[in-house]
Amino acid sequence: MNSIPLTPTRKRAAAAAGYDARDIYDGCEQRGIRPVIPLKKTPAVVAGKDRPPSCEHGTWTFAGSDAKRGASKWRCPAAECRPGSVWVKADRLHPLVPRSTDRWKALYRGRAAVEREFGNLVAVEVKAGANVRTEDLAGLRHLARRLGDRFVAGHVLYTGQQTLPFGGRLRAVSIEALWRVSP
Ligand SMILES: [Zn+2]
Repeated sequence: MNSIPLTPTRKRAAAAAGYDARDIYDGCEQRGIRPVIPLKKTPAVVAGKDRPPSCEHGTWTFAGSDAKRGASKWRCPAAECRPGSVWVKADRLHPLVPRSTDRWKALYRGRAAVEREFGNLVAVEVKAGANVRTEDLAGLRHLARRLGDRFVAGHVLYTGQQTLPFGGRLRAVSIEALWRVSP
């Protein structure tokens, strides 16, 4: 029916660097944070493991997410398969707000939906590395310009240990610090 594993095996692609985006995802979800992060072209993505379920009737349709359950629901487009729907556990490849939805696109671009969703926004970008260069903050700068006062802070999470100020409301923060911040 569909080839997407419901509980993908954990694999640390960047063990040397300490963390990869999957850890960020799991950590965010466990803390009730909905991460909106574009997908890197990892081997799993190249193999198409981020795609929605599909069947002979086509790609399955997104039918909503349940945050408590930590999963998104998908349906056979023809309503002919049995079971006709499946829950896909949320992870880096299958976020609760699926990347194929307009909602994800709106959130990612910092458009109107953001205000309703978050009020003020603390933007977070992930860098799987121990060094942060000023060009790594280009996306956050763009978002800051777009959002104005609603942009509270922009953090680049990286695997280094120190918090590095980059001017304005931007800084690089150790990934570990994310788990020390209270909600
Ligand atoms: Zn079907």
